[in-house]
Amino acid sequence: MSLKSLKLFKFLAISVMFLSFFPTLSLAEKESNVLESQHFSFSIHSQNDVDLNQILRDFQVANLSDSYASGQSSDPKVILTEGMDEIVKNLTQILGLQISDFHTNIKIFDTQKDLDKELKGIFGVNEGEKAFFYNDEIGFFYHENNTIYLSLDNVTLGVLAHEVAHALISQYFVVPPPRQTQEILAGYAEFSLKKIANNSAGKYPLK
Ligand SMILES: [Zn+2]
Repeated sequence: MSLKSLKLFKFLAISVMFLSFFPTLSLAEKESNVLESQHFSFSIHSQNDVDLNQILRDFQVANLSDSYASGQSSDPKVILTEGMDEIVKNLTQILGLQISDFHTNIKIFDTQKDLDKELKGIFGVNEGEKAFFYNDEIGFFYHENNTIYLSLDNVTLGVLAHEVAHALISQYFVVPPPRQTQEILAGYAEFSLKKIANNSAGKYPLK
């Protein structure tokens, strides 16, 4: 072993020792923010700690969860996962897409103002200016980083379904359809999904 490789060995040994303190922490944190079912997964990121109860209320997905409807579970993670699963299943049927391994990120901001600031930061638009492709959106899907942007102020089941539809369309089409066509598809998917949710358990009136 040369001096150089001894130094490298020492560096690696220290790195391994250092890293071994952290994996459990980061994995545990990651795990609590990921909703996973058999075919789909969502990573949820929030400005503060992810509050699944609040997200469940604001997403209005409880109507779609069997565990909630039957009173089998009151665990927000279970209800949220089942609700999101139903959203994806229904949207793929409504849009006629064959997707079995879907993943997208969801970034949730406390207020619409925070959301605007983030989107304007991404697209390099100054305060007061408007970007040509978005206009104070209450939800936004950015295909470059496969992320849905929402605010707790304004998210509803309809907004969520609309953005998940955009994410599905983005994942399904190798060559994306024209922007207007995508909007028509996402609008149709949102409308159809709200109808399905309104006809289910009905304990959470939909906005
Ligand atoms: Zn849209």
